[in-house]
Amino acid sequence: MINIPKGTKDVLPEQSYKWQYLEDAARSVAAAFGLKEIRTPVFEHTELFLRGVGETTDVVTKEMYTFEDKGGRSITLKPEGTAGVARSFIENGLANSPMPLKSYYLTPCYRYERPQAGRLREFHQFGIEVYGSAQPETDAEVIFAASSFLNKLGIKGARLEINSIGCKSCRAEYNRALKEYFRPHLDGMCANCRDRFDKNPLRIIDCKEEACRKITAGAPKILDYLCPDCRAHFESVKGYLSALGVEYTVNPDIVRGLDYYTRTVFEFVSTAIGAQGTVCGGGRYDGLIAELGGGNVPAVGFAAGLERLLLLMDNTGVEFPAPPVPRVYVAGMDEPTRKKAFGIVNGLRVKGISAECDHMARSVKAQFKYADKIGAEYVAVIGGNELESGSCTLKRMRDGQTFDMPFADIYEFLKNNI
Ligand code: ATP
Ligand code: MG
Repeated sequence: MINIPKGTKDVLPEQSYKWQYLEDAARSVAAAFGLKEIRTPVFEHTELFLRGVGETTDVVTKEMYTFEDKGGRSITLKPEGTAGVARSFIENGLANSPMPLKSYYLTPCYRYERPQAGRLREFHQFGIEVYGSAQPETDAEVIFAASSFLNKLGIKGARLEINSIGCKSCRAEYNRALKEYFRPHLDGMCANCRDRFDKNPLRIIDCKEEACRKITAGAPKILDYLCPDCRAHFESVKGYLSALGVEYTVNPDIVRGLDYYTRTVFEFVSTAIGAQGTVCGGGRYDGLIAELGGGNVPAVGFAAGLERLLLLMDNTGVEFPAPPVPRVYVAGMDEPTRKKAFGIVNGLRVKGISAECDHMARSVKAQFKYADKIGAEYVAVIGGNELESGSCTLKRMRDGQTFDMPFADIYEFLKNNI
């Protein structure tokens, strides 16, 4: 037997309605916020992620699915959604469209990680990206869209944590302060952090190693190094959030895993799904488009991990609306009545009514049992009499009530009996 690759999951027919529910919720929130879908390839040139995600990030140094294609190009399966959207924005000249450009995506992502609950090698993200606005209300709107999505799903207890990691100039000063602080501790830190110390000391704050975390606890905080503009921006974002009634806490240790963030960063975190508690992360990335060779276009967005949301919903007993069931099951007894049932059922399907009949040569009794198992709302049996009279009885399974009607009226009846 050939097994599924490590860190991937099948979504089986009995479970897929949960995924569709999540995706429908994402699309309806996106529509309400005026976001249009963008679809970009699952694979891109590796260079895009080196530049767009950042060479010192965990994603790039450890987690990418990179391979050489038959043409000798280095190709990488997308580890996140933003870099591809930014590439597309530049390549398609979307800076010329009316700003802001508001987009969303639903996409699989690939990261070579150690699989655990809520951490997979193939996972899925709902993300939104707004290009062109540097205004703080756009940050607040994006955060509010994430919060609306979680609320729509019935998720409670996902805490919003926000921070500002400043712009290039405040970060330069902060990085200097970090270096001064970490220099005497370097011997006690992991090899990765020693490397980050030279290349990008901010990344040390994100290290998950216990020893590094202890040292990091006493490190200078970015909020003390914000320039006046970045400070004003952060204050304004907080003001807009409060005006919308969005609760948050400021967590100066959030720096986010990707290099392209500037100013606002945020996460929605839950304690109900163990160590992998971040269900949604995002922020502002004003330098990304320029970094990838486009113009000076500010941007803000988030990505939510759908597997973690499903896990959180399952763990906290959030109800999913029941999946749709067949409206009617039509049973037959012998060759001519089965043929009639088959005809009625397919006639209904063409008109958009979900209907079912026998495919397993079952007895009428077994067909009733099956109809019950699949949750059919009504059952009709076509026998010799029915065939002759051209009418039948629909039995409502919920309460046993019966309704007589000609075959030709079944459609109208079901359409009106919603
Ligand atoms: P973490 O700190 O948990 O590794 P991250 O900072 O790497 O998260 P992001 O790059 O911000 O995650 O991705 C956004 C969201 O995608 C995360 O908040 C999470 O919900 C989800 N996510 C990230 N990596 C995985 C994964 N390997 N499996 C499942 N979901 C994931
Ligand atoms: Mg990660």
